[in-house]
Amino acid sequence: MASTISFFDQVNLNFDKAARFTKHSEGLLQQIKICNSVYHMTFPIKKDDGTIETIHAWRAEHSHHKLPTKGGIRYSTLVNEDEVMALAALMTYKCAIVDVPFGGAKGGVQIDRKGYSLSELERITRRYTYELMKKNFIGPGIDVPAPDFGTGEQEMAWIMDTYMTMTPEKLDVAACVTGKPIAQEGVHGRKEATGKGIYFGLREACRSVEDMQILGLQPGLTGKSIVVQGFGNVGYHATKFLQEAGAVIVGVGEHNGVIHNPKGLDVEKVAAHHSETGSVLSFPGATTHPNPTHVLELECDILIPAALENQITPENAGRIQAKIIAEVANGPTTFEANEILRRRGVMIIPDAYLNAGGVTVSYFEWLRNLSHVRFGRVGKRFEESTHISMLKAVEKIAGQEFSQEAMKQLGHGPDEVDLVNSGLEDTMIVAYNQIRDTQKRHGEDVDLRTASFINAIDKIAISYMELGIFP
Ligand code: GLU
Repeated sequence: MASTISFFDQVNLNFDKAARFTKHSEGLLQQIKICNSVYHMTFPIKKDDGTIETIHAWRAEHSHHKLPTKGGIRYSTLVNEDEVMALAALMTYKCAIVDVPFGGAKGGVQIDRKGYSLSELERITRRYTYELMKKNFIGPGIDVPAPDFGTGEQEMAWIMDTYMTMTPEKLDVAACVTGKPIAQEGVHGRKEATGKGIYFGLREACRSVEDMQILGLQPGLTGKSIVVQGFGNVGYHATKFLQEAGAVIVGVGEHNGVIHNPKGLDVEKVAAHHSETGSVLSFPGATTHPNPTHVLELECDILIPAALENQITPENAGRIQAKIIAEVANGPTTFEANEILRRRGVMIIPDAYLNAGGVTVSYFEWLRNLSHVRFGRVGKRFEESTHISMLKAVEKIAGQEFSQEAMKQLGHGPDEVDLVNSGLEDTMIVAYNQIRDTQKRHGEDVDLRTASFINAIDKIAISYMELGIFP
């Protein structure tokens, strides 16, 4: 049964729970929690057959404590005002958790993209951008969208092109949206960033001997069995990196069913099967289950909900067998289900931390667009020649030469993707340890989600206090 508590209220329940562990005034807490602006727009779209359809769309800017605000745009029939407000709030806390200097926002267009041709989607996206521009809800220093459920590089390119066409005199136009294709001012590593961030975050969580012992697990990712719900861009990349690190993917769920093989599923082969047949179902060697929610109840060490919100509810929380839930979707666990799982000793790594790799690399893309230069372009060759000189000096002292292969590997200067991944790795490690330290400081009552909210609230509160608005 779906929760009777709205999604935004669920986020606020988590906020209230954490706020009790902080010392901020009621007024300040209220200001952090409230959604600053929501814009509901409707516009007509001419379909290819000549008929006219009315489209409902939203953009919510949850917090203006830092500008621009930042967050994806989703295309889904489930989009509504409450959902965009909840997701925008999660973006505010997410950015604070990983020290990305943005307020939170989220947009949504209430459509099922499968029901529209490419040119219809282009018309919808361009019109949506135009509507955002009319109300000052988009711009490099105002509000910067990105991909989310049902959108990707193509939509981001249309958004940038529309914005650019309307503001040709502006120098920083490319920074009005992130998640763009590389040839359209995107940054290397953005497409796989959320998945890679999940890998870095899980690796950090599983590194602790003490924490793994409590769960009855060995430290490290090697040999851990993993089940994923959702095999889109994020689900695919997360499982790909986890498999490369030695984890075993035993189940994959999609909207139309589940595939399961306790011996392991090869992620690349599942992806190839998906692109050939349009579905993961009937993957050779795996058992297929027709019920899509069955995936959540499969036996595994780590369950990764990577689809939509409100998937783990009081109804199914008792049947979940995983010891760790790695939240990749935004809001996959309801507030009530979280309490049940906490009492059962399940470790939940919260969404606002674990999927923050996307917005972290969006931040790098935005910086790249503002500086008008690719990361590494200026220093790469210089670093390379410094490394080579050092290696040559070592050769002289050792009286032995490095192989050509070793010289190439050790001497190489960083490419953009190396720098992006290094920034992402550091961000995920630092933020996890900040959350874990807060949890340890508070003891039993505080789980990782509450700890992450405490950290976010404290950081946002400091920004407000530094603005001199609150004492
Ligand atoms: N939609 C992604 C998220 O929920 C990315 C947001 C962004 O890059 O601005 O975190």
